[in-house]
Amino acid sequence: MRRWNGWGDETVSAALPVRAAETLAAWVGPGTAPHDATPEASLTAVPPSRLAAEGRLTLDPWTRLLHARGQSLPDWIALRSGRIGAVPDAVAFPETGGDVAALLAWARERGARLIPYGGGTSVAGHVNPQTSEAPVVTVDLSRLSRLVAFDEASRLATFGAGVKGPDLEAALRAHGFTLGHFPQSFELSTLGGWVATRSSGQQSLGYGRIERLFAGGRVETPSGRLDLPPFPASAAGPDLRELVLGSEGRIGVLTEGTVRVTPVPACEEVHGVFLPDFPSAIAAVRDLAAMRLPLSMLRLSTPEETRTTLLLAGHERLIRALETYLSLRGAREEKCLLLVGITGGENLVRQTRRQTLGALAMRGGVAAGKGFGREWNRNRFRAPYLRNSLWEAGWAVDTLETAAPWSRVPALLASVESALRTGLAGEGEKVHAFTHLSHVYLDGSSLYTTYLFRLAADPGVNLARWRKLKTAASDAISAGGGTISHQHGVGTDHAPWLAAEKGDLGIRALRGLFRTFDPDGLLNPGKLVP
Ligand SMILES: Cc1cc2nc3c(=O)[nH]c(=O)nc-3n(C[C@H](O)[C@H](O)[C@H](O)COP(=O)(O)OP(=O)(O)OC[C@H]3O[C@@H](n4cnc5c(N)ncnc54)[C@H](O)[C@@H]3O)c2cc1C
Repeated sequence: MRRWNGWGDETVSAALPVRAAETLAAWVGPGTAPHDATPEASLTAVPPSRLAAEGRLTLDPWTRLLHARGQSLPDWIALRSGRIGAVPDAVAFPETGGDVAALLAWARERGARLIPYGGGTSVAGHVNPQTSEAPVVTVDLSRLSRLVAFDEASRLATFGAGVKGPDLEAALRAHGFTLGHFPQSFELSTLGGWVATRSSGQQSLGYGRIERLFAGGRVETPSGRLDLPPFPASAAGPDLRELVLGSEGRIGVLTEGTVRVTPVPACEEVHGVFLPDFPSAIAAVRDLAAMRLPLSMLRLSTPEETRTTLLLAGHERLIRALETYLSLRGAREEKCLLLVGITGGENLVRQTRRQTLGALAMRGGVAAGKGFGREWNRNRFRAPYLRNSLWEAGWAVDTLETAAPWSRVPALLASVESALRTGLAGEGEKVHAFTHLSHVYLDGSSLYTTYLFRLAADPGVNLARWRKLKTAASDAISAGGGTISHQHGVGTDHAPWLAAEKGDLGIRALRGLFRTFDPDGLLNPGKLVP
């Protein structure tokens, strides 16, 4: 069963190694286990629904509570403290596109607001109801999850948009295909959510981000149905798929999505290579990007993140042996871990492996052996579970991300980390921040920063600390020429920085778009462009 106030499946946990806990305590101060609210106590914060019972709506308080928040740190603070804030008045579980169209018609008549809800894994406040006079209904799309059509000749598959990652992959693999979209939230996030937030999977270098994989679909909007046929390419004016990508539930509900799929590759390899320092590591990934090799992933950690990753991995003796070996080969204190994914047929993978490891060796790269990559692959969806253990030990963890041209990457990284590290100095608290380049492009890279700080006993203080850090880091991103989001979207948390990126005319254009599809402002108010 899904954890109601944290990440993932209740039966899965990731232990925090003892040495890691000791080191984190030395870095940011010892944590104190917080007193989390019980489900019973949290339920007392759910107000009565403002809607009357009817067939299409679930008014049950527990179901409403489960749909009140996503997975951002403020969401965790709310859920764990029992101070939930606004809760939807009802949850609807449509089973067909027709049900969604009927809900939209009902909402217009009733003056209700609707929030499309995929897996609820948003980390930017996308699915949280706003306080409003109008009743709010969360539209849970989990029953729209069938494989609707599979066109093998064209390598196109059409799914109900509420399909979750594992179910989508299982259905495709039964035909020998994969989508290759593996965000770290894969277990719980959905096709509709990926499209609506412009998501990026860990192997997007090979398979492409969702905007490349999303070939078309069907959107039910308050102004009618928008069908997006899947053309391989088209010069027929602006591409309407772009209106849906990143629309965050503001223009309509994606009920079906058609995606471009690939035959399951014969080989999927991940290699761990350590570079002696960050400048040489950046030069190495830029070389690799420019070589246009068939790689599926390049993920480069800074020295700080490399240290933290090795610490959190546990397996103390193995890691010590690895560090001794790396040190003998020249990768010491400033070493950076680079994960390289290679995907394809056996010959292609063999040739690519030789070229890649050869190019990295020229930059002083030391390969850590296949076991390292296999271990990463096995644990690739484990990191979010560690967030549960860290919280229970008294530390809050949050992540933020951006992307920028190569010429800006080093300065941007330094200013974001510095904003975080010094953000709580005024209250005498330390922040541990570390970064990796998660997605590498020819012209630039994304930066993905994780930060950790001590939880206070008062949830209000924790929220204020988060706000201070988020604001400082987002200001640094905006001033440093980065986008306010490379993959998590805008929601409410990034909205204050959107105008600086899009400009006044851009924001007006977006408002005009929302008005065209949703003239009465029924859908997900307050998100993306408030
Ligand atoms: C632990 C963790 C790891 C993550 N890792 C990644 C990662 O690697 N890459 C990445 O890109 N993101 C990642 N995320 C962020 C999140 O998973 C993505 O934003 C994801 O795309 C959200 O999908 P969802 O189905 O959960 O959508 P939800 O959270 O339910 O909704 C997100 C937004 O999409 C809208 N929406 C959802 N479905 C539809 C639909 N059918 N029609 C119209 N609008 C819709 C909602 O209204 C909302 O505005 C991570 C989050 C967590 C918690």
